[in-house]
Amino acid sequence: MTRLAVRHEAINLAQGFPDFPAPAALKSAAAQAIDADLNQYAITWGAKPFRDAIAAKYQRTYGMEFDPEREITVCCGATEGMIASLLAVLDPGDEVVLFEPFYENYGPDTQLCGATARYVRLQAPDWSFDPDELRAAFTPRTKAIILNSPNNPTGKVFSREELECIAGLCQEFDCLAITDEIYEHILYDGAVHIPIMTLPGMRNRSILVNSMSKTYSVTGWRVGWVLAPPDLTDSVRKVHDFLTVGAAAPLQQAGVYALGLPESYYGQLSQEYSARRDHLVASLQAAGFKCFIPRGAYYVMTDIKSLGFADDSSFVHHLITHLGVAAVPGSSFFSHVSVGTQFVRFCFCKKYETLEMARHQLFRLKSK
Ligand code: PLP
Repeated sequence: MTRLAVRHEAINLAQGFPDFPAPAALKSAAAQAIDADLNQYAITWGAKPFRDAIAAKYQRTYGMEFDPEREITVCCGATEGMIASLLAVLDPGDEVVLFEPFYENYGPDTQLCGATARYVRLQAPDWSFDPDELRAAFTPRTKAIILNSPNNPTGKVFSREELECIAGLCQEFDCLAITDEIYEHILYDGAVHIPIMTLPGMRNRSILVNSMSKTYSVTGWRVGWVLAPPDLTDSVRKVHDFLTVGAAAPLQQAGVYALGLPESYYGQLSQEYSARRDHLVASLQAAGFKCFIPRGAYYVMTDIKSLGFADDSSFVHHLITHLGVAAVPGSSFFSHVSVGTQFVRFCFCKKYETLEMARHQLFRLKSK
């Protein structure tokens, strides 16, 4: 969609990356690290100061204790963190439970490991799941469930009760929760993020994946981390070493600054995104979309059923080529292309002027 958007000079509300600058002090920290010649390989599982900063941040935010020497692996974004974790724990023939709609990588990641995905539907409008359907997806072959909260693409934030249900099944079926918590600090309307690893019985059966990409608006830096108990970390580190050797050394040093930012940074981040969310939702509603209001992350899922198009792909194609706005067809977040064709996802991690231009363009849908 980004390539199509570039070709048609469309406003890109498809791929989730900010079009505004990263924090100035963070950029200076990176420049200083390069100037100070931190330009060679860091230790494969991450520079010590950065691992220490990650441990301190989780202590402050969640009261969680991680041993930087044995439980933290720095990697190239959450993308590598997820595939490294899956390659570390899955064997061909294993099964993985996935909620759908899901972030696109999880399906291919699972396939690359030779494992089979079992899908459980999140049902609009609140993207809740049926606990019986979830239970039915677990079998003796289940090795893990992948959980992304706050969720891309739905904006769902899993509640404590839902997490307890998932944690109970992980313990009953003796499997792992592998969590993608990349939007942990982008929360609205009082929503609270709870790492499933903090629930009773989950500390030693969870792998937590996260990154600097979204929280610090640096998706191009490719710096992430994996938190897991020592035995699992041992395996993740081995896979990581052979996949990428390590994340960019000077950017890990800048990460020490980022993860040391005060709580007020995160409150402001949510506040700013909340205003952008409201702006985009108002524009979409005025143009005739039905919106599912997100409680976290920076996407709005919409229902286009009433707009009179054959499906999501033809709608998005029209949107890009005739109205100059790019979005993502909903079916790309489902296991079968025939499902989710009434949904289209827009992102709002954009400058106000970009969102304002999109508002004007989207409104022209009315006169299609
Ligand atoms: N996980 C989710 C849920 C995402 O939405 C994204 C990017 O959009 C990623 C992971 C990619 O993360 P990273 O840039 O850290 O590789």
